[in-house]
Amino acid sequence: MAEQDPQHRRRVVVLFSLPFQGHLNPMLKLASLLAARGLGVTVLHTDFNAPDPARHPVGLAFAPIHETLPGEATSPDSHILTKLLVLNAACDAPFRNTLASLLRDHHRDDDGGDVACAVVDGQCFAAMRAAGELGVPVLALRTDSAASFRNMLAIPRLRDAGYIPIKGKQLGTDMSLRHLQMFVPAEEKLDLPVPGHDPLRVRDLIRVDGCDDDEHCSFVTSVADTIRSAVSGIVINTFDAVEASELAKLQNELSLPAFAVGPLHLLKFQTPPVEQSLHEPDRGCLPWLDGHAPRSVLYVSLGSLACVDRVVFDEMAWGLAGSGVPFLWVVRPGLVITGAGDDDEAPPPLPEGFEEETRGRGRVVKWAPQREVLAHAAIGAFWTHCGWNSTLESVCEGVPMLVQPCFADQMVTARYVTHEWGVGMEVGEVIERGRVAEAVVKVMVGEDGALMRERARHLKMEASAATSSAMDGLVRYILSL
Ligand code: UDP
Repeated sequence: MAEQDPQHRRRVVVLFSLPFQGHLNPMLKLASLLAARGLGVTVLHTDFNAPDPARHPVGLAFAPIHETLPGEATSPDSHILTKLLVLNAACDAPFRNTLASLLRDHHRDDDGGDVACAVVDGQCFAAMRAAGELGVPVLALRTDSAASFRNMLAIPRLRDAGYIPIKGKQLGTDMSLRHLQMFVPAEEKLDLPVPGHDPLRVRDLIRVDGCDDDEHCSFVTSVADTIRSAVSGIVINTFDAVEASELAKLQNELSLPAFAVGPLHLLKFQTPPVEQSLHEPDRGCLPWLDGHAPRSVLYVSLGSLACVDRVVFDEMAWGLAGSGVPFLWVVRPGLVITGAGDDDEAPPPLPEGFEEETRGRGRVVKWAPQREVLAHAAIGAFWTHCGWNSTLESVCEGVPMLVQPCFADQMVTARYVTHEWGVGMEVGEVIERGRVAEAVVKVMVGEDGALMRERARHLKMEASAATSSAMDGLVRYILSL
C-alpha cells in the first residue's frame, strides 16, 4: 500500500483506454491495482464498449466521455487502422472536455484530491496530447510487448531502409540499403534478419495488410512522436523473465522511465477478482472440459478483433476435424470477413457436415471464459493469433501454443513464442486442412509438443515469480509527479 501523507490531499490517477477488449482488460486491471494501493482512481471511458461499474471494485470511479462515433469505428468490416484513426479523432475533444471538467471539479472540491497523472492508452495519441496540453503528466500504457513496441517505434526508419512495406511497392530512400529492394527477390527478402531487432526477420515485422502504407506510417509516427514528446513514462504489461533485454533497449532508446508491471492479470489485489469481458462468456464449456482427460483438448481462439476469410475458416474447421483431437473453438460474430454487413450478432455458419463429423469431440462457443479455460487441466495447447494478452495468459498457465498471427504486433509475438521462448510452433503460413491437422497432432501428442510444454511450464514458474515491485515503483513515481 502506498504511503499517503495525511497532510496532503489524496492523489488521483485518471485512466483512459481505447474500447478494445485487449486494451480494456489490462487498463482496468491496472486501475484496480492502483486503487488497492491507496490512490484515487477515475476511469474515463467511451460510451462504446463501456465497462460496467457494477463489475468493478467500489474504489473506482467511472466517467463516460460521450463521444460520437462514426460507423467505421465499430463495424467488423472496418480495417483496424481505420478504427484506430477514427477513434483517435472522435475521442479527442470529448476526452479533453471531460478531463478539463474533472480537473475543475477537483480544483473546487477540497476533498476530491489532486490529479497526479493520466494513464492513457499508448495507441491514443490524441488523448495523450490532450492530457499533456491540459498540464497533466501523462503515462502511456502499452498493451503490447516491449519487442513489438520497439518494432513499432522503428517503423519509419525500417521503411526508409527498404525493409517495409514487406510486399508490394518499395519506397526506401536509404541508398546504402537499396540492394534490398533491387536485388533481393521478395521471397528471399522475407527471411532476412532485421538488424537491431533479433530474432525478427522481415516477415515478422508489424504488418497491417490491406491498408495504405503511408497512412500506417503516419499513424505510427503520430504515436511515436507523442510518446517521445508528451509522455513522462511508459507502463508496459510485460515482465523481465521474458523481455529483460527488449525492455533495457526500449528504455535506452526512449530515455523515459519504463515500468514493466506485467503480467497484470496475475497480480493480486485486495478486492475480489472481477469479470471484465465485454461479451457474455459461455461458461457451459467448463463442465464440458471437466469430462476430458488432462491435456487432451485444444483451445482455439483468434481473440476479439482478428478475422479470416471464408476459405481460411473452412480450412481451419476441416483441419480440426481431420486431426481427431478434441477441441474448444471460439467462433465469434465477425470472425469471418463477409463484407456484406451481415447480422453482427450471429457467428458465421460452420461448414456443412462439420458438426456431424466432429460430434462429441468438439465444442464451439461465441465467447469463452478464456483465462479459466487456459487454467483448466484438460487444455493441452492453445491455437492463438498471438494477441499479447492471450500470449501472456497462455504463458502464465504453462500452455504451449500453435500460432496463427493475423496482423500488427501478432507477427512479432509469434516469432518470440516460437523461436525465442520455444513454447509454440506455426500452424503454417498457408492454412490448409492437411497441414493444420498435422500441426495440431504435433503440438498435442508429438515429442515437439512435449518439449514445448516443458518449456511453457518453466515460463509459468517465472511468470508467477514476477513480483509486484515494478508496481510499487510505478506508485512511487506517480506520487512524485
Ligand atoms: N478473450 C476472452 N474470451 C474469448 C476470446 C478472448 O475472454 O473467447 C479475452 C482474452 O482472455 C484476452 C482478450 O480477450 O484477454 C483478447 O486480447 P488479446 O490481446 O489476446 O487479443 P485482441 O483481441 O486484442 O486481438
